[in-house]
Amino acid sequence: MIRAIVGANWGDEGKGKITDMCADQSDIVVRFQGGANAGHTIINEHGRFALHQLPSGVFHEHITNVIANGVALNVDSLMKEMKTIEDAGIKFNLLISERAQVLMPHHVLMDTYEEERLGDKKFGSTKSGIAPFYSDKYSKVGIQVWELYNKEMLKEKLQGLYEKINIQFKYLYNKPEIDYMEVYETLCQYAEAIKDRVADTSAFLRKAIKEGKNVLFEGQLGALKDTDHGIYPYVTSSSTLAGYASVGAGVPPYAIDNIVAITKAYSSAVGEGPFVSELFGEEADELRRKGGDKGEFGATTGRPRRVGYFDAVATRYGCEVQGATEVCMTCLDVLSYMDTLHICTGYEYEGKVYTDFLTTDKLYKAKPVYETLPGWKCDIRGIKNYDELPKEAKAYVEFIEKQLGVKISMVSNGPGRHEILYR
Ligand code: GDP
Repeated sequence: MIRAIVGANWGDEGKGKITDMCADQSDIVVRFQGGANAGHTIINEHGRFALHQLPSGVFHEHITNVIANGVALNVDSLMKEMKTIEDAGIKFNLLISERAQVLMPHHVLMDTYEEERLGDKKFGSTKSGIAPFYSDKYSKVGIQVWELYNKEMLKEKLQGLYEKINIQFKYLYNKPEIDYMEVYETLCQYAEAIKDRVADTSAFLRKAIKEGKNVLFEGQLGALKDTDHGIYPYVTSSSTLAGYASVGAGVPPYAIDNIVAITKAYSSAVGEGPFVSELFGEEADELRRKGGDKGEFGATTGRPRRVGYFDAVATRYGCEVQGATEVCMTCLDVLSYMDTLHICTGYEYEGKVYTDFLTTDKLYKAKPVYETLPGWKCDIRGIKNYDELPKEAKAYVEFIEKQLGVKISMVSNGPGRHEILYR
């Protein structure tokens, strides 16, 4: 089976846990977009890990993990991440695409300087260099992995590249210039560090698919952060959609036969941008404290996440643009404390109620229209069968399923690998 596990919302839906859980049925786990700017939290018998670039198959020795062409490869942070996993005594297989683009030191600096320059108009970037990275990539001045091994060509390219960047650093940001030879030395170290893992991963994947191997594509962030379909400009700079797995990894679009969209039983988001069902004050603090496995704080940045009631309008749209064939709802246990559950089923904008996802300007002004259901008010962790859930919890899941128009095939009632209820 060729499966994609992707986010239906703003990211942090719990994809890492579900990917880790599904990974043992996979031969290959692939990251196809994004970079070190977001993280998955995985809790298993080895401990609690925040993965940023490593595919979630690293905890299974039989799996080949692939960092494919579409990823923003941050070698420095990848090395640190690999060390954490190795230090925990875990052995893993990892291939890095020879056509992946390398994130460069100036990308991180530019991201930081630009957010500083924008002040209150900032995008809420994680400052991991992702936006400048993808700008360079699409301006065709980036460096692909294979270029690291063509030393003379690399040196010449860097010299030209930094002439322009240094003008920007000096005159726009008033910051120190970059010595291209220092970057060259850094890139040579990167080349050495990854050399044994570099491969033509796209040929590898196409062959594996022909041989009937089970491949799992692991998405980062969620549909509403997609550059083309999300809350632009408060989006990420690469496509977060399952459809992009085929582009970012180099496999046929028709090869992906199962698309699992992950959604949380409530909403959470990081960064700036409209969030119609957002909660504030004490109500938000309580949900934030109880959310996830350690409260709703970013796996990469530690930033407190914005939280809110379940947004069925945004999630239905997310499932549609992902092309979800099934949905997994995570963190149902988190809502056990609530007396009443609110589900946003419409957006009221200028006196009219919309059930379609609106453009960013309208979302900012839209008011949530809620339906309410009674809470179940008891701990549901430890329950092993869906049928054993309190009837109010089942009613909540089934109400949302109707709203989404896609089967909720799995419900997660705890952060651990085995805390999952199949339907
Ligand atoms: P990802 O980027 O989509 O993988 O999501 P994150 O890992 O950033 O955030 C999801 C958070 O929810 C993590 O802290 C997970 O450990 C936690 N989590 C996942 N599923 C469940 C669940 O069913 N219940 C609870 N309480 N926490 C969960």
